[in-house]
Amino acid sequence: MTNIILSPVIAIDGPSASGKGSVAERVAKQFGFHYLDSGAIYRLLAYAAYQQQVSWSDANALADIAAHMVIKFEHGEAYLNGEQVSAHIRTEQMGKGASEVAVHPAVRTALLQTQRNFRQAPGLVGDGRDIGSVIFPDAGLKIFLTAAVETRAKRRYEQLLQRGETASYAHILDDLQQRDLRDSQRAAAPLKQLPDAILLDTTDKNIEQAVNIIIEAFKKASQTA
Ligand code: C5P
Repeated sequence: MTNIILSPVIAIDGPSASGKGSVAERVAKQFGFHYLDSGAIYRLLAYAAYQQQVSWSDANALADIAAHMVIKFEHGEAYLNGEQVSAHIRTEQMGKGASEVAVHPAVRTALLQTQRNFRQAPGLVGDGRDIGSVIFPDAGLKIFLTAAVETRAKRRYEQLLQRGETASYAHILDDLQQRDLRDSQRAAAPLKQLPDAILLDTTDKNIEQAVNIIIEAFKKASQTA
């Protein structure tokens, strides 16, 4: 019998605007690993449905689109059926759409293998809500990355202002609270801290500090594996 050695996975799960993306990307770069932004996949699905005028509540039609859409990530850009759509999926509207399409179990099942295909040598850093619980339960390191909701709202608010967009802090805070509730209360793959995940609260930490903690934790986990 041949033993198939699977590439290592670092799973970083947590609520919206916790800084998962920036942290995960830097950790991936440090180890030369691939990076899976699973939220972007749900955003691509929400955008594909919007383009085809399919409702974000129509589970069967969404699962069908999910099974057939062709997605690609290259040099930090997201592609849907060959078209570069990064700016279209990074809007607050598609963030909301993503969290609505993500509640359907049929959608999550349709996207399961798509996400697992990102596990390739020499390794993968994946971020999302269910990377450590459903997509890669055997991940060698699981991190639950979070921060106080007010801190997350403030970071997102400043990010939008820096991009030259108009934003309302109160509106962002309200939206994040609703999204937290939807992500953690849904029946299918709810967001929760796993017993085997390390809690990393970045309320009083910057990105670099969070990245360093994960790098050290992975080195330690690799030594004991
Ligand atoms: O991380 P991001 O804000 O891009 O995710 C958008 C939405 O996609 C989340 O609010 C969540 O509802 C959904 N999502 C999910 N499972 C994942 C990643 C994202 O349900 N693994």
